[in-house]
Amino acid sequence: MNILVINCGSSSFKYQLIEMGGQTVLCSGLVQRIGDSMGSLTHKKAPGGEGEKKYTEERPFPDHTAGMTRVMSLLTDPELGVIGSLSEIAACGHRVVQGGEIFKQSCIVGEKELEQIAALSPLAPLHNPAHVQGLEVVMRLLPHAPSVAVFDTEFHSTMPQHAFMYALPYEIYEQQRVRRYGMHGTSHRYVAQQAARVMSRQEPGFNVITCHLGNGCSVSAVKDGKCVDTSMGMTPLAGVVMGTRCGDIDPAIHAYLGRQTGMGLEDIDSLLNRKSGMKGICGMNDMRDIHAARKKGDARAQLAFDMFCHSIRKYIGAYYAVLGRVDAIVFTAGIGENDPESRAAICKDLEAMGIVIDPAKNEKRFDNARSISPVGVKVRVLVVPTNEEIVIAGATAALLKEKMA
Ligand code: AMP
Repeated sequence: MNILVINCGSSSFKYQLIEMGGQTVLCSGLVQRIGDSMGSLTHKKAPGGEGEKKYTEERPFPDHTAGMTRVMSLLTDPELGVIGSLSEIAACGHRVVQGGEIFKQSCIVGEKELEQIAALSPLAPLHNPAHVQGLEVVMRLLPHAPSVAVFDTEFHSTMPQHAFMYALPYEIYEQQRVRRYGMHGTSHRYVAQQAARVMSRQEPGFNVITCHLGNGCSVSAVKDGKCVDTSMGMTPLAGVVMGTRCGDIDPAIHAYLGRQTGMGLEDIDSLLNRKSGMKGICGMNDMRDIHAARKKGDARAQLAFDMFCHSIRKYIGAYYAVLGRVDAIVFTAGIGENDPESRAAICKDLEAMGIVIDPAKNEKRFDNARSISPVGVKVRVLVVPTNEEIVIAGATAALLKEKMA
């Protein structure tokens, strides 16, 4: 059974075709700058495998339909393709960032679900409208293959009410659904499961703190395989310091900035989302650039890095208290998987909590899940490559089987 996984943004989308029997990625790709005068497409067969082929083309994609139609023709292309006909795609799994309180699990999407996902757009204005577009196009182009929505917020739906509520008048929650929803749920779920597997543990009785550190960053406390707290909030702006997002700040800063500078709400929102975080401090948001600059003595780059690590350490400490006992800390995503300096700085001087990193293991590069702590420590520190596409494909295949049963 082949599942096409789609992660659709407002002007781009990523795709992977996955064969579920062997959990093999047949091909993957990315369409960018949809709607611009010039767009681009990258298509790779069997990423990472032998004989990997990378194909790129530059041409305009006026809309998502144009991009998706081109991808469909590539999937079945005699040379670049991996299937004989589109009928070999059994279903499509779509990443959807915000499921609100309506969607606590993945679902097959019909007209009603499309409307509900669209209606949640005010809670994820950059993401949900794009997901709806992607769903509509795929449902039209592949009418035989059910489209399944897998929500980032699903994994966090197990948070207890005292963790997901904000201390605002209760009616604000009842009427506006203002609460913590959390993001990156598919990634947190996957790496927590993989951590239990690496440590030969079952999820019941297993407590783990998962740190998804990429362009967006979030930390989750996971108990018995269920999320009990997470750092992102109603939107992906909250929590730790990120590339361009401020993370937790005093909520009074909005009103103060408005009064002092005359900035409007939209401008303040944009400032906090796009011009803050490490970029706001040192002008850079890519961790590789920040390392290069601080090694040349750039004090602001050093400050941005220190603030980033400090904010994550605070969440690790907080979630240690939430969980009571911690079996593992997991690092994942671009920075978490690839940056030994961040991991070392975040875990520095935490021996009293049983958190220790082995410097030699930390520096080694591997593509698979591994432990970077010394043998015999109380809390294992693990690096686990995330794989949201496999989780989405798995959830899609499971729903399909259920429907056929
Ligand atoms: P993601 O959103 O998961 O793709 O992660 C993007 C972030 O990972 C960016 O800040 C990159 O600078 C960072 N990153 C990727 N590779 C490395 C690396 N080798 N060392 C440090 N940071 C990295």
